[in-house]
Amino acid sequence: MASCICRFMISVLFTVLNLTVVHPYPSHIVLRSFGYDDEISTISLKSMEYTADLINSRDDIPFKIEFEHNKIEEGAAVSWNMVSSVCNTLKEGAMTLINSVNGKGREGIRGVSDALEMPLISLSSPTNELPQFSNIFELSIRPSVTELLGDFIIHKGWDEILVMVDTQFSGLQLQPIWKHLRSRTNSSVQASIYDLPADEDDFELFLRQFNMMRNNVTNRIIIDSSSPSRIKKFLIAIRSAQFNQANYHYVLANYDFLPYDQEMFQNGNINISGFNIINKESREYWSLKKHLKDTKQQNEDITMEAAIGHDAILVIWHGFMKCLQTNDSLFHGTFRHRRFFNRGFPGIYCDPLSDRTHSNRPFSSFEHGKVISSALKNIQIGALEGTLTGNIEFDRLGNRKNFDVSVIDLVSNTKATFNRREVLAWRQGVGFFTNRTIAQHSRKIHSSRTNEDVIVLTNLVAPFVMLKAECPAGTNKTECDGNNKYEGYCIDLLRLLSEKIDGFNYLIRIGTKAGSKQPDGSWNGMIGDLLNGKAHAVVASLTINQERERVVDFSKPFMTTGISIMIKKPDKQEFSVFSFMQPLSTEIWMYIIFAYIGVSVVIFLVSRFSPYEWRVEETSRGGFTISNDFSVYNCLWFTLAAFMQQGTDILPRSISGRIASSAWWFFTMIIVSSYTANLAAFLTLEKMQAPIESVEDLAKQTKIKYGIQGGGSTASFFKFSSVQIYQRMWRYMESQVPTVFTNTYAEGIERVRNQKGRYAFLLEATANEYENTRIPCDTMKVGANLNSIGYGIATPFGSDWKDHINLAILALQERGELKKLENKWWYDRGQCDQGITVDGSSASLNLSKVAGIFYILMGGMVASMFAALGEFLYRSRIEARKSNSSSLVANFAKNLKSALSSQLRLSIEGGAVAQPGSQSHNAIKRQQVAAFLPANEKEAFNNNSERVQPPPASTLYNTAV
Ligand code: GLU
Repeated sequence: MASCICRFMISVLFTVLNLTVVHPYPSHIVLRSFGYDDEISTISLKSMEYTADLINSRDDIPFKIEFEHNKIEEGAAVSWNMVSSVCNTLKEGAMTLINSVNGKGREGIRGVSDALEMPLISLSSPTNELPQFSNIFELSIRPSVTELLGDFIIHKGWDEILVMVDTQFSGLQLQPIWKHLRSRTNSSVQASIYDLPADEDDFELFLRQFNMMRNNVTNRIIIDSSSPSRIKKFLIAIRSAQFNQANYHYVLANYDFLPYDQEMFQNGNINISGFNIINKESREYWSLKKHLKDTKQQNEDITMEAAIGHDAILVIWHGFMKCLQTNDSLFHGTFRHRRFFNRGFPGIYCDPLSDRTHSNRPFSSFEHGKVISSALKNIQIGALEGTLTGNIEFDRLGNRKNFDVSVIDLVSNTKATFNRREVLAWRQGVGFFTNRTIAQHSRKIHSSRTNEDVIVLTNLVAPFVMLKAECPAGTNKTECDGNNKYEGYCIDLLRLLSEKIDGFNYLIRIGTKAGSKQPDGSWNGMIGDLLNGKAHAVVASLTINQERERVVDFSKPFMTTGISIMIKKPDKQEFSVFSFMQPLSTEIWMYIIFAYIGVSVVIFLVSRFSPYEWRVEETSRGGFTISNDFSVYNCLWFTLAAFMQQGTDILPRSISGRIASSAWWFFTMIIVSSYTANLAAFLTLEKMQAPIESVEDLAKQTKIKYGIQGGGSTASFFKFSSVQIYQRMWRYMESQVPTVFTNTYAEGIERVRNQKGRYAFLLEATANEYENTRIPCDTMKVGANLNSIGYGIATPFGSDWKDHINLAILALQERGELKKLENKWWYDRGQCDQGITVDGSSASLNLSKVAGIFYILMGGMVASMFAALGEFLYRSRIEARKSNSSSLVANFAKNLKSALSSQLRLSIEGGAVAQPGSQSHNAIKRQQVAAFLPANEKEAFNNNSERVQPPPASTLYNTAV
């Protein structure tokens, strides 16, 4: 009895329980998704979960979506992994499967779905396009690109294409493309297939090798990869490779040509086309984007993966709604006792024999599979229902139809900086709407800013960036950590920028050279690193030029400069004792000497020939003497006195003599004043005579070699210059062995210093001027700058920092902060004495400069003394001879001695008195008498005595003593 009651109670309890576990309407929709543990599956999974939660949160929907994801292991056994995972999951039951994997894994799930008649929603590229391979239970949410590609090839009129297949992530089927092409056109299209390297780091090398193979032919390249991250890397490789882009046209065979990438290509000269299907105007787009950003899944634009995941859940929702609308009790038998039942048995079994609890279980497919599949296949939803990929309808093979795509066609234009951007409208089943082409300008679409540090590349060029003296390379002092070990103009500029720009937290990395375009079109140096995505900005002495502006963005220039010449300072001018001669060249001095002699001769001649120079003097005896003052000796004396700006006791009286003298005076006046003017400059300025004073001087000589830093903007300037002299200089530099190119400025400057004036270096004036103020102060800048350039901060295309940096630079410039920095690094820290620099500056007159004139003076004095001695001896000799005229030679010595001693006494005492009656008095008297003799008597008298000469000193002294 008791057991009976007990059994009854249990059965009542069961009934009660049964009532609660059997799902009444609304029911559960059990979805099971399968994917790898990778970026693609994760993003679509997040997006599906988000959409499912959104639907579950609505009250007007008669069911809840129960969504569960299964991760499949990749590898050789992926197909088996997929099948076993799906079969295990199905044991618990599912109403629709979702697959996000490609390749073998996909084949596995398709097989199970086909065999068990399970509806399958595929997120990866459709494979159903050929009827022979179709699975009627599969729906592909991702629209196929085959038809679109076919139409695009026809639209462009291409007859050859190259397909770069990302083997592991390939989703493109070529066969349907040919089928489509054949149905639309008669002309044939050739295709070659290249496999992309598995390692993303090899993309650039791969492109380069490819370019070498097909450099001069036209390449229309279709890129087939379904991995957004790999596509991104490949696009970066394309941008940094930069071949002869006119020959290339890239087409991205998916819908992942994101606005960010579009903008990056907008300014480069690269032909590229991509497809866009995502509707960015919708509310759903922004809320999903926000969700993914908040959950740190995606920072940038929503990728196709996320959009497809979102739309897959919408499709399922609307498909099931459709099922329930036609039969609201369709799933009544499906859930019992919290379990999923299929045709009366719990769960769905791939292999019924493995169900140990129901050994009699037959193999049975999913009982509602066909109904659900056909409901899903027949839905038609669109933007109104909140889809992100436009109109969703399926054809009989389960592929999307009647969807709209915008084709973004960026066509390079070598004449303009920007690519021409065309957006073409295309509809599946219709083709291109040729009348709906919109040419667009570039516009910033999104913000790429994150809170990460901004990686700033720079290079060590004094005084822009230098290692602090207290932080040599390899030091591990804490005060030399990170950015702190550098100093210089750019470091200060960065600090000012970070103060001005919110969130501009920078991390300095030292790069190599500025960078230049390589023959294969790629870039090296810091520009190359920027293109490769290794840095966010380059802040250095980076020259803005046209070639670089095509591949990166430059800020407004923060400094302007130009290419200049650096040479070693010549040794200081040596002053010789004859430096006073230097104001006039030797040539001029020679001419002056010739002129002096010539003029003296002319004055002598004209005075001789001119009657007015002859003077007739009457003697006391009534006779006349006819004389002329301008003897040769006097002429030379007169001319010399005039040249020395002195006067003489003789002056010409004839017109001819006066004309000659006036001309000479005028000549001497000009010469003397020019000499005086030049003399001041020569003696008071220590002017250094530079061997080179301009670029022309440099170009026309070969004694001094000259060079530049290779691979920078200076090299480009010379290489591409249309100015003849620069072309000549480039050819000269290229031909030099050993090379005159240097790797760095430091190397070039060292060469200038070490090669004793035999090497000149062409570098930007900023570095030139700085180096000239540094010890050992032995370099100098000569000549004017060759050109005018500006330094700018480079950022990759589309960087969000660009505008901020521009504004900050303008603000710093307007407030004079940049000028202050310039003064700080160039002028306030000079180590060289500016007083003895290049152009010369005043210095006091020292003995070395004027020693020569002292020598001349001394020489004159000594010569005059010798002359006096000569005169003295000569005179004594005459006197001795005179007093001896009648005596014997033996007495001559005696007389000479007495004459000498009396002359000497006279010279020392400075005078003497001849007393009347003395011998000397008589002698003088005799002379005076002789002076007044008539001419004939005088002649006789003259034979014995000098005419107007003073009495002989010996006579004077002999009498006086
Ligand atoms: N400032 C130069 C550049 O950006 C580097 C130095 C040079 O070429 O003289 O390329």
